[in-house]
Amino acid sequence: MNRPESRPPSVDKLARSIADTGLPHPMLVEAARQAIADGAPEKAREVATATLRRMLGPVINATGTLLHTNLGRAPLAWSQPEQYTNLELDLTTGERGSRMATAAALVARACGAEAALIVNNCAAAVLLALGGLAEGKDVVVSRGELVEIGGGFRIPEVMARSGARLVEVGTTNRTRVSDYRQAVDDPAHDVGVVLQVHQSNYRIVGFTEAPTTSELAALAAPLVADIGSGLLDSRCPWLPGGPPGWLDAEPAARQTLAAGAGLVMFSGDKLMGGPQAGIIAGDAELVARCARHPLARALRPGALVIAALQATALAYLAEDGQAIPFWRMATLSLEELRSRADRYGAGAIIDTESTPGGGTLPGVAIPSIGIAVNGDQRQLLRELSRPIIARVDHDQTVIDLRTVHPDDDDYVAEALRSLTN
Ligand SMILES: *Cc1c(COP(=O)(O)O)cnc(C)c1O
Repeated sequence: MNRPESRPPSVDKLARSIADTGLPHPMLVEAARQAIADGAPEKAREVATATLRRMLGPVINATGTLLHTNLGRAPLAWSQPEQYTNLELDLTTGERGSRMATAAALVARACGAEAALIVNNCAAAVLLALGGLAEGKDVVVSRGELVEIGGGFRIPEVMARSGARLVEVGTTNRTRVSDYRQAVDDPAHDVGVVLQVHQSNYRIVGFTEAPTTSELAALAAPLVADIGSGLLDSRCPWLPGGPPGWLDAEPAARQTLAAGAGLVMFSGDKLMGGPQAGIIAGDAELVARCARHPLARALRPGALVIAALQATALAYLAEDGQAIPFWRMATLSLEELRSRADRYGAGAIIDTESTPGGGTLPGVAIPSIGIAVNGDQRQLLRELSRPIIARVDHDQTVIDLRTVHPDDDDYVAEALRSLTN
Protein backbone atom coordinates (compact mmCIF):
# COMPACT_ATOMS: atom_id res chain seq x y z
CA MET A 1 0.00 0.00 0.00
CA ASN A 2 1.35 3.37 -0.97
CA ARG A 3 0.08 6.14 1.35
CA PRO A 4 2.66 8.89 1.17
CA GLU A 5 0.42 11.33 3.10
CA SER A 6 0.09 9.05 6.12
CA ARG A 7 1.74 10.22 9.34
CA PRO A 8 5.16 8.71 10.11
CA PRO A 9 4.51 6.31 12.97
CA SER A 10 7.17 7.93 15.12
CA VAL A 11 5.15 11.18 15.34
CA ASP A 12 2.09 9.29 16.47
CA LYS A 13 4.04 7.27 18.98
CA LEU A 14 5.77 10.34 20.35
CA ALA A 15 2.41 12.16 20.59
CA ARG A 16 0.92 9.24 22.55
CA SER A 17 3.89 9.18 24.90
CA ILE A 18 3.03 12.70 26.11
CA ALA A 19 -0.74 12.18 26.28
CA ASP A 20 -0.63 12.56 30.08
CA THR A 21 -0.07 16.32 29.59
CA GLY A 22 -3.81 16.46 28.91
CA LEU A 23 -3.65 18.28 25.57
CA PRO A 24 -6.12 17.19 22.85
CA HIS A 25 -4.57 14.70 20.41
CA PRO A 26 -4.10 17.07 17.44
CA MET A 27 -2.09 19.40 19.70
CA LEU A 28 0.05 16.50 20.96
CA VAL A 29 0.79 15.66 17.34
CA GLU A 30 1.73 19.26 16.68
CA ALA A 31 4.11 19.25 19.66
CA ALA A 32 5.66 15.96 18.51
CA ARG A 33 6.09 17.27 14.94
CA GLN A 34 7.72 20.45 16.15
CA ALA A 35 10.14 18.60 18.42
CA ILE A 36 11.11 16.25 15.56
CA ALA A 37 11.50 19.19 13.14
CA ASP A 38 13.77 20.86 15.72
CA GLY A 39 15.86 17.68 15.73
CA ALA A 40 15.06 17.10 19.40
CA PRO A 41 12.22 14.57 19.75
CA GLU A 42 13.04 14.24 23.46
CA LYS A 43 11.81 17.83 23.85
CA ALA A 44 8.22 16.99 22.78
CA ARG A 45 7.01 17.05 26.38
CA GLU A 46 8.61 20.45 26.90
CA VAL A 47 6.88 21.81 23.78
CA ALA A 48 3.53 20.46 25.00
CA THR A 49 4.07 21.91 28.47
CA ALA A 50 4.98 25.29 27.00
CA THR A 51 1.70 25.22 25.05
CA LEU A 52 -0.22 24.45 28.25
CA ARG A 53 1.51 27.26 30.08
CA ARG A 54 0.46 29.78 27.45
CA MET A 55 -3.19 29.04 28.26
CA LEU A 56 -5.19 31.04 30.76
CA GLY A 57 -4.82 29.60 34.26
CA PRO A 58 -4.56 30.50 37.93
CA VAL A 59 -1.38 32.05 39.35
CA ILE A 60 -0.37 33.26 42.80
CA ASN A 61 0.29 36.99 42.84
CA ALA A 62 3.21 37.59 45.21
CA THR A 63 4.21 40.91 43.61
CA GLY A 64 2.32 43.11 46.07
CA THR A 65 0.72 44.93 43.14
CA LEU A 66 -2.95 44.60 44.04
CA LEU A 67 -4.33 45.38 40.58
CA HIS A 68 -1.69 43.73 38.42
CA THR A 69 -2.48 44.36 34.77
CA ASN A 70 -0.62 41.22 33.64
CA LEU A 71 -2.46 39.15 36.24
CA GLY A 72 -5.99 40.25 35.40
CA ARG A 73 -6.26 43.35 37.67
CA ALA A 74 -8.69 42.69 40.56
CA PRO A 75 -8.81 39.05 41.70
CA LEU A 76 -12.29 37.65 41.36
CA ALA A 77 -13.87 34.83 43.31
CA TRP A 78 -16.56 33.74 40.95
CA SER A 79 -17.59 30.51 39.32
CA GLN A 80 -20.82 29.31 37.86
CA PRO A 81 -22.16 25.76 37.74
CA GLU A 82 -23.85 24.39 34.63
CA GLN A 83 -27.16 26.22 34.68
CA TYR A 84 -29.52 28.54 32.85
CA THR A 85 -30.19 32.02 34.20
CA ASN A 86 -33.10 34.46 33.91
CA LEU A 87 -30.82 36.59 31.73
CA GLU A 88 -33.61 38.07 29.64
CA LEU A 89 -36.70 36.91 31.48
CA ASP A 90 -38.73 38.90 33.97
CA LEU A 91 -39.70 36.25 36.54
CA THR A 92 -42.64 38.33 37.80
CA THR A 93 -44.41 38.87 34.50
CA GLY A 94 -43.00 35.96 32.50
CA GLU A 95 -42.20 38.50 29.75
CA ARG A 96 -38.89 39.24 28.17
CA GLY A 97 -36.84 41.46 30.49
CA SER A 98 -33.55 43.29 30.09
CA ARG A 99 -30.40 41.42 31.07
CA MET A 100 -28.88 44.65 32.27
CA ALA A 101 -31.65 46.18 34.29
CA THR A 102 -31.18 44.71 37.74
CA ALA A 103 -27.39 44.47 37.93
CA ALA A 104 -27.04 47.94 36.44
CA ALA A 105 -29.59 49.34 38.89
CA LEU A 106 -27.64 47.82 41.80
CA VAL A 107 -24.40 49.37 40.56
CA ALA A 108 -26.19 52.72 40.10
CA ARG A 109 -27.51 52.53 43.63
CA ALA A 110 -24.08 51.64 45.02
CA CYS A 111 -22.60 54.82 43.55
CA GLY A 112 -25.57 57.14 44.06
CA ALA A 113 -26.52 57.37 40.38
CA GLU A 114 -30.04 57.50 38.93
CA ALA A 115 -29.18 54.85 36.34
CA ALA A 116 -26.25 52.87 34.94
CA LEU A 117 -25.28 50.88 31.88
CA ILE A 118 -22.77 48.01 31.83
CA VAL A 119 -20.35 47.48 28.93
CA ASN A 120 -17.15 45.48 28.43
CA ASN A 121 -14.55 47.90 29.81
CA CYS A 122 -14.01 51.57 30.53
CA ALA A 123 -12.68 52.20 27.02
CA ALA A 124 -16.02 50.95 25.69
CA ALA A 125 -17.86 53.12 28.23
CA VAL A 126 -16.05 56.25 27.00
CA LEU A 127 -16.64 55.28 23.37
CA LEU A 128 -20.35 54.73 23.99
CA ALA A 129 -20.83 57.87 26.10
CA LEU A 130 -19.20 60.03 23.43
CA GLY A 131 -21.03 58.23 20.62
CA GLY A 132 -24.37 58.41 22.42
CA LEU A 133 -24.14 62.05 23.48
CA ALA A 134 -21.87 63.75 20.97
CA GLU A 135 -21.85 61.91 17.64
CA GLY A 136 -21.39 64.59 14.96
CA LYS A 137 -20.91 67.19 17.70
CA ASP A 138 -18.01 68.79 19.54
CA VAL A 139 -16.45 67.49 22.74
CA VAL A 140 -14.41 69.94 24.82
CA VAL A 141 -11.31 68.46 26.51
CA SER A 142 -8.32 70.02 28.27
CA ARG A 143 -4.95 69.59 26.55
CA GLY A 144 -3.70 68.24 29.89
CA GLU A 145 -6.11 65.31 29.59
CA LEU A 146 -5.53 64.15 25.99
CA VAL A 147 -3.79 61.09 27.27
CA GLU A 148 -3.00 57.45 26.70
CA ILE A 149 -4.08 55.15 29.53
CA GLY A 150 -2.26 51.81 29.10
CA GLY A 151 -3.02 49.30 26.37
CA GLY A 152 -3.20 51.99 23.68
CA PHE A 153 -6.39 53.65 25.00
CA ARG A 154 -5.89 57.17 23.61
CA ILE A 155 -8.52 59.80 24.23
CA PRO A 156 -8.18 61.52 20.81
CA GLU A 157 -8.45 58.16 18.98
CA VAL A 158 -11.47 56.98 20.98
CA MET A 159 -13.02 60.37 20.31
CA ALA A 160 -12.48 60.00 16.55
CA ARG A 161 -14.02 56.49 16.58
CA SER A 162 -17.08 57.75 18.45
CA GLY A 163 -17.86 60.21 15.67
CA ALA A 164 -17.39 63.20 17.98
CA ARG A 165 -15.13 66.14 17.13
CA LEU A 166 -12.38 67.08 19.55
CA VAL A 167 -12.13 70.68 20.71
CA GLU A 168 -8.90 71.12 22.70
CA VAL A 169 -8.70 73.86 25.30
CA GLY A 170 -6.03 75.17 27.66
CA THR A 171 -2.46 73.92 27.82
CA THR A 172 -0.75 70.77 29.05
CA ASN A 173 -0.22 72.12 32.56
CA ARG A 174 -2.89 74.78 33.00
CA THR A 175 -6.50 74.88 31.89
CA ARG A 176 -9.05 77.28 33.41
CA VAL A 177 -12.81 77.07 33.51
CA SER A 178 -12.86 80.18 31.28
CA ASP A 179 -11.09 78.15 28.56
CA TYR A 180 -13.89 75.59 28.64
CA ARG A 181 -16.58 78.28 28.83
CA GLN A 182 -15.23 80.04 25.77
CA ALA A 183 -15.37 76.81 23.75
CA VAL A 184 -18.84 75.83 25.01
CA ASP A 185 -20.32 79.30 24.36
CA ASP A 186 -18.62 79.75 20.96
CA PRO A 187 -21.46 79.91 18.38
CA ALA A 188 -19.17 78.19 15.86
CA HIS A 189 -19.23 75.09 18.08
CA ASP A 190 -22.00 72.57 18.60
CA VAL A 191 -20.88 71.10 21.92
CA GLY A 192 -22.37 67.72 22.84
CA VAL A 193 -20.51 67.27 26.12
CA VAL A 194 -17.54 68.48 28.14
CA LEU A 195 -15.21 65.57 28.90
CA GLN A 196 -13.08 65.36 32.02
CA VAL A 197 -10.45 62.59 32.09
CA HIS A 198 -8.81 61.52 35.33
CA GLN A 199 -5.00 61.49 35.31
CA SER A 200 -4.99 57.83 36.39
CA ASN A 201 -1.45 56.78 35.61
CA TYR A 202 0.48 60.04 35.47
CA ARG A 203 0.73 63.33 37.31
CA ILE A 204 1.31 66.86 36.10
CA VAL A 205 3.06 68.60 38.97
CA GLY A 206 4.40 72.09 39.61
CA PHE A 207 2.83 75.10 37.88
CA THR A 208 -0.57 73.55 37.23
CA GLU A 209 -4.22 74.53 37.24
CA ALA A 210 -7.42 72.67 36.46
CA PRO A 211 -11.04 73.52 37.22
CA THR A 212 -13.02 71.51 39.74
CA THR A 213 -15.80 69.14 38.70
CA SER A 214 -18.46 71.52 40.03
CA GLU A 215 -17.05 74.42 38.01
CA LEU A 216 -17.19 72.31 34.85
CA ALA A 217 -20.66 71.01 35.71
CA ALA A 218 -21.96 74.61 35.75
CA LEU A 219 -21.17 75.09 32.04
CA ALA A 220 -23.92 75.01 29.40
CA ALA A 221 -23.20 71.43 28.26
CA PRO A 222 -23.42 68.12 30.16
CA LEU A 223 -20.20 67.07 31.88
CA VAL A 224 -19.07 63.46 31.45
CA ALA A 225 -16.16 62.32 33.61
CA ASP A 226 -13.89 59.38 32.83
CA ILE A 227 -12.78 58.64 36.40
CA GLY A 228 -11.25 55.33 35.31
CA SER A 229 -10.44 53.78 38.66
CA GLY A 230 -13.98 52.94 39.79
CA LEU A 231 -13.75 54.11 43.39
CA LEU A 232 -17.48 54.16 44.19
CA ASP A 233 -17.49 56.49 47.21
CA SER A 234 -14.57 58.46 48.66
CA ARG A 235 -15.85 57.82 52.22
CA CYS A 236 -15.46 54.03 51.71
CA PRO A 237 -18.46 53.10 53.92
CA TRP A 238 -17.67 49.43 53.17
CA LEU A 239 -14.49 49.72 55.27
CA PRO A 240 -15.01 49.84 59.06
CA GLY A 241 -12.01 52.17 59.40
CA GLY A 242 -13.09 54.49 56.58
CA PRO A 243 -10.86 55.41 53.64
CA PRO A 244 -7.21 54.33 53.95
CA GLY A 245 -4.70 57.19 53.88
CA TRP A 246 -3.14 56.07 50.61
CA LEU A 247 -6.40 56.60 48.74
CA ASP A 248 -5.35 60.21 48.55
CA ALA A 249 -7.38 62.44 46.22
CA GLU A 250 -8.67 59.67 43.96
CA PRO A 251 -11.96 60.83 42.37
CA ALA A 252 -15.00 58.75 43.31
CA ALA A 253 -18.17 58.09 41.32
CA ARG A 254 -20.62 59.25 44.01
CA GLN A 255 -18.83 62.54 44.75
CA THR A 256 -18.22 63.30 41.05
CA LEU A 257 -21.95 62.90 40.35
CA ALA A 258 -22.85 64.91 43.46
CA ALA A 259 -20.58 67.70 42.18
CA GLY A 260 -22.79 67.90 39.10
CA ALA A 261 -21.30 65.57 36.47
CA GLY A 262 -24.02 64.18 34.20
CA LEU A 263 -22.22 60.86 33.80
CA VAL A 264 -19.19 59.06 35.17
CA MET A 265 -17.40 56.24 33.36
CA PHE A 266 -15.18 53.72 35.14
CA SER A 267 -13.68 50.23 35.04
CA GLY A 268 -15.21 47.32 36.96
CA ASP A 269 -11.86 45.66 37.68
CA LYS A 270 -9.78 48.47 39.18
CA LEU A 271 -10.67 49.99 42.57
CA MET A 272 -14.22 48.65 42.27
CA GLY A 273 -12.69 45.19 42.63
CA GLY A 274 -15.12 43.41 40.30
CA PRO A 275 -14.93 41.70 36.90
CA GLN A 276 -13.60 43.34 33.75
CA ALA A 277 -16.41 45.71 32.80
CA GLY A 278 -17.08 49.35 32.05
CA ILE A 279 -19.77 51.33 33.84
CA ILE A 280 -21.60 54.41 32.60
CA ALA A 281 -23.54 55.86 35.54
CA GLY A 282 -25.42 59.06 36.26
CA ASP A 283 -28.40 61.00 34.94
CA ALA A 284 -31.14 58.59 33.73
CA GLU A 285 -31.85 60.50 30.52
CA LEU A 286 -28.15 60.62 29.54
CA VAL A 287 -27.71 56.90 30.34
CA ALA A 288 -30.78 56.12 28.21
CA ARG A 289 -29.29 58.03 25.27
CA CYS A 290 -26.11 55.93 25.52
CA ALA A 291 -28.21 52.74 25.74
CA ARG A 292 -30.07 53.66 22.55
CA HIS A 293 -26.83 53.97 20.53
CA PRO A 294 -26.43 51.05 18.08
CA LEU A 295 -22.98 50.30 19.54
CA ALA A 296 -24.54 49.53 22.94
CA ARG A 297 -25.47 46.03 21.84
CA ALA A 298 -22.02 45.33 20.43
CA LEU A 299 -20.36 46.46 23.66
CA ARG A 300 -22.56 44.63 26.17
CA PRO A 301 -21.03 41.89 28.34
CA GLY A 302 -22.39 38.38 28.87
CA ALA A 303 -24.12 36.73 31.80
CA LEU A 304 -20.90 35.74 33.60
CA VAL A 305 -19.76 39.35 33.87
CA ILE A 306 -23.19 40.62 34.83
CA ALA A 307 -23.52 37.99 37.56
CA ALA A 308 -20.08 38.82 38.97
CA LEU A 309 -20.75 42.55 38.85
CA GLN A 310 -24.09 42.03 40.57
CA ALA A 311 -22.36 40.12 43.40
CA THR A 312 -19.81 42.96 43.70
CA ALA A 313 -22.55 45.62 43.79
CA LEU A 314 -24.42 43.68 46.49
CA ALA A 315 -21.24 43.55 48.61
CA TYR A 316 -20.99 47.36 48.36
CA LEU A 317 -24.67 47.80 49.24
CA ALA A 318 -24.13 45.54 52.27
CA GLU A 319 -21.07 47.69 53.08
CA ASP A 320 -19.09 44.45 53.26
CA GLY A 321 -15.57 45.28 52.07
CA GLN A 322 -14.38 41.87 53.27
CA ALA A 323 -16.43 40.26 50.49
CA ILE A 324 -14.47 42.20 47.87
CA PRO A 325 -11.01 40.58 47.49
CA PHE A 326 -9.32 43.83 46.47
CA TRP A 327 -10.49 45.70 49.58
CA ARG A 328 -9.86 42.74 51.87
CA MET A 329 -6.24 42.53 50.70
CA ALA A 330 -5.74 46.30 50.55
CA THR A 331 -6.71 46.71 54.20
CA LEU A 332 -4.93 43.71 55.77
CA SER A 333 -3.12 44.98 58.85
CA LEU A 334 0.64 44.63 59.31
CA GLU A 335 -0.08 42.49 62.40
CA GLU A 336 -2.11 40.00 60.36
CA LEU A 337 0.59 39.90 57.67
CA ARG A 338 3.36 39.49 60.25
CA SER A 339 1.66 36.60 62.00
CA ARG A 340 1.28 34.84 58.64
CA ALA A 341 4.93 35.53 57.85
CA ASP A 342 5.94 34.01 61.20
CA ARG A 343 4.43 30.71 60.10
CA TYR A 344 6.35 30.55 56.79
CA GLY A 345 9.54 29.04 58.16
CA ALA A 346 11.43 29.95 55.00
CA GLY A 347 13.45 32.99 53.90
CA ALA A 348 13.66 36.19 55.92
CA ILE A 349 10.72 38.32 57.07
CA ILE A 350 11.07 41.86 55.73
CA ASP A 351 9.15 45.15 55.68
CA THR A 352 8.10 45.92 52.13
CA GLU A 353 5.58 48.02 50.20
CA SER A 354 2.57 46.99 48.12
CA THR A 355 1.08 49.21 45.41
CA PRO A 356 -2.52 49.59 44.20
CA GLY A 357 -1.41 49.20 40.54
CA GLY A 358 -3.76 48.89 37.58
CA GLY A 359 -2.75 52.31 36.34
CA THR A 360 -4.29 53.92 39.42
CA LEU A 361 -2.67 55.96 42.19
CA PRO A 362 0.86 56.20 40.73
CA GLY A 363 3.55 56.43 43.38
CA VAL A 364 1.29 55.21 46.20
CA ALA A 365 2.87 52.69 48.57
CA ILE A 366 1.02 50.56 51.15
CA PRO A 367 3.28 49.23 53.94
CA SER A 368 3.41 45.44 53.84
CA ILE A 369 5.29 42.38 55.03
CA GLY A 370 7.25 40.07 52.75
CA ILE A 371 9.43 37.01 52.72
CA ALA A 372 12.81 37.48 51.02
CA VAL A 373 15.07 34.78 49.61
CA ASN A 374 18.46 35.33 48.05
CA GLY A 375 18.99 35.85 44.33
CA ASP A 376 16.55 36.10 41.45
CA GLN A 377 14.27 33.07 41.81
CA ARG A 378 11.46 34.41 39.66
CA GLN A 379 11.83 31.93 36.84
CA LEU A 380 11.86 28.88 39.14
CA LEU A 381 8.74 30.18 40.89
CA ARG A 382 7.00 30.80 37.55
CA GLU A 383 7.73 27.22 36.48
CA LEU A 384 5.81 25.66 39.38
CA SER A 385 2.59 23.78 38.65
CA ARG A 386 0.76 26.73 40.23
CA PRO A 387 3.04 29.57 39.17
CA ILE A 388 4.06 32.10 41.83
CA ILE A 389 4.74 35.57 40.42
CA ALA A 390 7.26 37.39 42.62
CA ARG A 391 9.38 40.51 42.34
CA VAL A 392 13.08 41.18 42.75
CA ASP A 393 14.43 43.88 45.01
CA HIS A 394 18.15 44.45 45.71
CA ASP A 395 19.10 40.98 44.45
CA GLN A 396 16.49 39.34 46.64
CA THR A 397 13.28 37.68 45.54
CA VAL A 398 10.42 39.16 47.54
CA ILE A 399 7.07 37.48 48.25
CA ASP A 400 4.66 40.22 49.35
CA LEU A 401 2.09 38.50 51.57
CA ARG A 402 -0.59 41.15 51.01
CA THR A 403 -1.52 39.81 47.58
CA VAL A 404 -1.04 36.10 48.45
CA HIS A 405 -4.29 34.47 49.52
CA PRO A 406 -3.85 33.03 53.05
CA ASP A 407 -5.06 29.65 51.71
CA ASP A 408 -1.94 29.65 49.50
CA ASP A 409 0.54 30.34 52.32
CA ASP A 410 1.42 26.64 52.80
CA TYR A 411 2.01 26.14 49.09
CA VAL A 412 4.18 29.26 48.81
CA ALA A 413 6.14 28.41 51.98
CA GLU A 414 6.80 24.92 50.67
CA ALA A 415 7.99 26.34 47.33
CA LEU A 416 10.37 28.72 49.13
CA ARG A 417 11.74 25.93 51.30
CA SER A 418 12.44 23.82 48.22
CA LEU A 419 14.32 26.79 46.68
CA THR A 420 16.53 27.33 49.68
CA ASN A 421 17.35 23.62 50.12
C1 LIG B 1 -8.00 52.45 33.16
C2 LIG B 1 -8.62 53.62 32.54
C3 LIG B 1 -9.29 53.50 31.32
C4 LIG B 1 -9.37 52.21 30.57
O1 LIG B 1 -10.13 51.29 31.29
P1 LIG B 1 -10.38 49.79 30.73
O2 LIG B 1 -11.39 49.24 31.67
O3 LIG B 1 -9.05 49.10 30.80
O4 LIG B 1 -10.88 49.91 29.35
C5 LIG B 1 -9.87 54.63 30.78
N1 LIG B 1 -9.79 55.82 31.39
C6 LIG B 1 -9.15 55.97 32.58
C7 LIG B 1 -9.09 57.34 33.21
C8 LIG B 1 -8.56 54.88 33.19
O5 LIG B 1 -7.94 55.02 34.37
